[in-house]
Amino acid sequence: MIEFQSISKSYGPVKAIDGLSLKIARGEFVVLIGASGSGKSTMLKMINRMESHDAGKILLDGAEIYSFKVRELRLRMGYAIQSVGLFPHWTVERNIGVVPQMLGWTAARIRERVTTLLQLFDLDPEIYRSRYPHQLSGGQQQRVGVARALAADPDVLLMDEPFGALDPVIRASLQLEMKRVHQASGKTIVRVTHDIDEALLLASKIVLLDQGRVVQVAAPLELLAAPASDFVVDFVGRSDIGIKLLSLQSAQSLARPEPQRPGPGLPAATTLREAVSFLAMQRLAVVNLTDAAGAHAGVLHAADIFGKAGPADG
Ligand code: ADP
Ligand code: MG
Repeated sequence: MIEFQSISKSYGPVKAIDGLSLKIARGEFVVLIGASGSGKSTMLKMINRMESHDAGKILLDGAEIYSFKVRELRLRMGYAIQSVGLFPHWTVERNIGVVPQMLGWTAARIRERVTTLLQLFDLDPEIYRSRYPHQLSGGQQQRVGVARALAADPDVLLMDEPFGALDPVIRASLQLEMKRVHQASGKTIVRVTHDIDEALLLASKIVLLDQGRVVQVAAPLELLAAPASDFVVDFVGRSDIGIKLLSLQSAQSLARPEPQRPGPGLPAATTLREAVSFLAMQRLAVVNLTDAAGAHAGVLHAADIFGKAGPADG
């Protein structure tokens, strides 16, 4: 759906993007990650032409992005950024409705859409639709910013650390919200973060950048299990890469189809990370697993975790 072909971009002497190629398929949740200054925001802004590139081509559904009118291109792409950029003298409803308004939606349809989006982000529409940005907390402003980006149901959602400044609890709940939105809508999402845990949680594909180049493109599990270089290992966090790997896999994935044993049980959906913690605390080598209905769902052996979940066997 979006393709970078040998893209380069310099700001004076600084090479921000250096011969970068990347394919993003429809429906993917791509997370661009890398240290500060690695080129993440520049990449994102080139997709909707907020920045131009010096060399190479960017294609949207096979057509050069410069073959579209810029307005048409941006109407197809929602864009949400950390600093939000809500219009201060407009109500929440008018802010969220800005693109639908441009598209000529009726007032009733816009109102209904605003109601849906505010509910999606856990803001009571009757309270919040008529508020002004300065009457909202930072976290609420950021939610309204993302709601605005989604308003006209764009094919593509571009997000640059939109939950960056939030406290960890709200941040985690919004991350899960985005995961649900993605799963329910099938939208293509390209998101920038510098937080590896966020990338591992949300991405269908992680793109690790360094100095404007792609270091590795991989699904979360693959990035941890088969890091392409020492740079990747260091970036992910050398000391706890194994723990992160465990947190991406469920106990179910290693369940042996054995009968129930005496002793405690864990939900099969528990992550292997939590299961290891439980086994260590309880000094157990084996634990029963239960499904969502509470029925026996096999047995987890500690030996299988350490035998099968390590990077060496992927
Ligand atoms: P990231 O989002 O990964 O932190 P950026 O894409 O913002 O990185 O920046 C990549 C490089 O380009 C950095 O070296 C940055 O200083 C430089 N850069 C970005 N925007 C500008 C600009 N408008 N003018 C000059 N240099 C810029
Ligand atoms: Mg940035």
